[in-house]
Amino acid sequence: MSYTVNESHNSQLRCWVASAHNPNTDFPIQNLPFGVFRRADSDEAARVGVAIGDQILDLSACLRQSLFDGLAAEAAQVCDQPTLNALLALGRSHWSALRQQISAVLREDGQAYQRDQEIGTKILLSMHDAELLLPVQIGDYTDFYASVHHATNVGSMFRPDNPLLPNYKYVPIGYHGRASSVVVSGAPVQRPNGQTRAPQADAPSFGPCKLLDYEMEIGLFVGPGNTLGQPIPIDQAEEQIFGLCLVNDWSARDIQTWEYQPLGPFLAKSFVTTISPWIVTLEALAPFRVPAFKRASDDPQPLSYLDSSADREQGGIDLTVEVYLASQQMRDGGVAPQRLSRGSFANMYWTIAQMLTHHASNGCNLRPGDLLASGTVSGASRDERGCLLELTWRGAEPIELPSGETRTFLQDGDEIILRGYCERADAARIGFGESRGVVQPAVAQSR
Ligand code: CA
Repeated sequence: MSYTVNESHNSQLRCWVASAHNPNTDFPIQNLPFGVFRRADSDEAARVGVAIGDQILDLSACLRQSLFDGLAAEAAQVCDQPTLNALLALGRSHWSALRQQISAVLREDGQAYQRDQEIGTKILLSMHDAELLLPVQIGDYTDFYASVHHATNVGSMFRPDNPLLPNYKYVPIGYHGRASSVVVSGAPVQRPNGQTRAPQADAPSFGPCKLLDYEMEIGLFVGPGNTLGQPIPIDQAEEQIFGLCLVNDWSARDIQTWEYQPLGPFLAKSFVTTISPWIVTLEALAPFRVPAFKRASDDPQPLSYLDSSADREQGGIDLTVEVYLASQQMRDGGVAPQRLSRGSFANMYWTIAQMLTHHASNGCNLRPGDLLASGTVSGASRDERGCLLELTWRGAEPIELPSGETRTFLQDGDEIILRGYCERADAARIGFGESRGVVQPAVAQSR
């Protein structure tokens, strides 16, 4: 079942960390996303923290100050580790107890601050002084294809008469990706080499990808998981979801075109995938839940294992996602990144619960730290298309940048920035931070 809105979401809460009240911050006291950090340029042990304004709350330091008790203290005890996996394994009661007590620690009227107004010097580190690391040791990475707009656009380029295959509205389509090449925001993105075949050529050749793309996606991290052989009923799916992050599924379109039949994507996708460093918990998203995607009257209803009234009523998330591009020339000239698209995660054909339940429906076991990504988030209009393949219609409609440059696909030196946020009138706005990556030249080939 979904989380309910509680005191930790109250938009009137006052936090003693001043930057948490900056109107532009993604991290007010109502958000409290989790990540892994250490002091930059130090050999400090990496550990779990929570973003608050432009600061990081050090959960191990909080524990040393005896700020937590009960389940929250148990949860904080596994936060001295360099990944979130042990916390993910504990499950929802622990996550929720920890969130409530973190909120109390950060409240201006909370006991911790009322007892000691210098408490911040003992439990905070400025993000400016911190290095953010990959927050999870990802066991398995699965990538779905949950936007019907994306699937229809891409399908119509390759099969104009039959864009959407007959399985699409029954099966949440996905493939098994590569966990080892998932990196955190800021890590370089090396253009892959690969095998491609030019349109009129008889034979393929090997060399740098020429059609490099990004895909704007949302990822979820699995909590305790299920035993091999035991499926996860749809109304228990959200118990298994710790939180969400931004995912850039960098894609080599020319390699993909040549290799994807008959078994699907392979090396076109596994060279690098970038995620944002902060994981926004599903509980933090409670005020932004919306009905699942409204199916057309002639669409089939989901099969019963993928259907529940709770998921129909609350399975969607009203989360806005944006993609920005800054070329090397733009950055050198101090030109702000150009927004390429803005879409909504509420437009996805399948809910997060449906994707997770479907994944486990054959008995496949999901484990703490598995990453399930949604597939490209695209909407009905042109400016909602979440990748260049769609946005430039396979290169036919180039994009103009403020520097006068044009793009069909990515050039070396291009930086792609993903952003995401939730807002509504009666709730505090919360954000996902950013996922950034700059394209580096391909490595010289050796033979
Ligand atoms: Ca993808």
